[in-house]
Amino acid sequence: MSEAPKLSVLAFGAHPDDVELGCAGLLALCARRGQPAGAVDLTRGEGASRGTVAEREREAAQSAGLLGLAARENLGLPDLHLQDTLDHRLAVAEVIRRYRADLILAPSPHDRHPDHAAASAFVTHGAFLARLPRIETEHPPYAPCAVLYYLIHEHLAPSFVVDITDVWEVKRAAVAAYRSQFDQPMPEGYRFVGTADYHAATEARAGYWGAQIQRPYGEAYLTARVLRLDDPVALLT
Ligand SMILES: [Zn+2]
Repeated sequence: MSEAPKLSVLAFGAHPDDVELGCAGLLALCARRGQPAGAVDLTRGEGASRGTVAEREREAAQSAGLLGLAARENLGLPDLHLQDTLDHRLAVAEVIRRYRADLILAPSPHDRHPDHAAASAFVTHGAFLARLPRIETEHPPYAPCAVLYYLIHEHLAPSFVVDITDVWEVKRAAVAAYRSQFDQPMPEGYRFVGTADYHAATEARAGYWGAQIQRPYGEAYLTARVLRLDDPVALLT
């Protein structure tokens, strides 16, 4: 068995750069607070319209350093072919067990990129399987506390918004590390389905969610379960 650091938060992204767009603010906040945070990129991004696998790998490592991640790895699953299969669920369960991660961050269940939606499903199911003793992987069972979903493209009503104002510059730098993705012109004649300027779009989204909580920048999250709240006065005053 490998000695992996125990993580407070483990974020899964379908492609290198997804966790930066969706939840880099929360990861950076956790790292600053001494809550070890990590990221698992499910694919190497070999199906991308721009950039090479080697470039993405270097960019992911640079971003991990900026965010202060305690761990980052790539599972090398097939880009553009992600499906909610037993093999993919088990791969997720094993990595959750290895890092003994308490909070799991996954892509939103509703996203226009099929890989993102598929990853959302098999990360959710893998997190469930991780706790079951009759599911055998390399490491023993481990029960994460919750799965939270981050938003990338679609607008969904969030369960809560995290104030990322103090780490906004860190998030912006982590996204900017992906020069192969966000600072290269698209191929001639290519009809881009995303946005022409991801930096502007990322700042606009963070500003929009921040406005919902009266702060400059925010990140939106969904929970599948109802959150228990013991002391509304302490939280809201
Ligand atoms: Zn992606």
